[in-house]
Amino acid sequence: TQTAPQADAPQTERTLILVKPDGVRRGLAGEILRRVEAKGYTLVAVELRTADDALLGAHYAEHEGKPFLAPLVDFMKSGPVLAVVAEGQRVIEGFRTLAGATDPTVAPPGTIRGDLGRDWGLKVIQNLVHGSDSVESAQREIGLWFPSL
Ligand code: UDP
Repeated sequence: TQTAPQADAPQTERTLILVKPDGVRRGLAGEILRRVEAKGYTLVAVELRTADDALLGAHYAEHEGKPFLAPLVDFMKSGPVLAVVAEGQRVIEGFRTLAGATDPTVAPPGTIRGDLGRDWGLKVIQNLVHGSDSVESAQREIGLWFPSL
């Protein structure tokens, strides 16, 4: 049986997290999941899969027309990604704080990208993780990666 949430409690959110192919290749999927769990978020779904053009085109639709889109899609299908749905109050903002800035060179120490990432001199910024950036993108992205949720 479920109990009603407290009237003043913020709504629980879900976010889509991807451990990108660089993270899986480097054996960091477990370390990244560990940080999500240690922060106190709940894992709702976890699946290792290799994405195709259709899924990645939809996932990155907002980057249509940007010069980094084609190399980004090539990178994202270069190996398996770990797709994760995590849940908790303010998990969307919370995971992006855990992840750190897009550029891993300047992402603060203590963050996933800051602790584990660096610049490899490649066309695409390989920064280990993706996290949804809003409630709307989270719902859209979870629908793409986990249509049964
Ligand atoms: N990206 C890139 N070059 C850029 C901007 C972005 O290679 O100039 C890649 C990078 O892997 C980034 C992803 O495209 O994580 C999506 O970009 P976004 O601006 O949404 O960054 P994020 O939300 O992942 O920090």
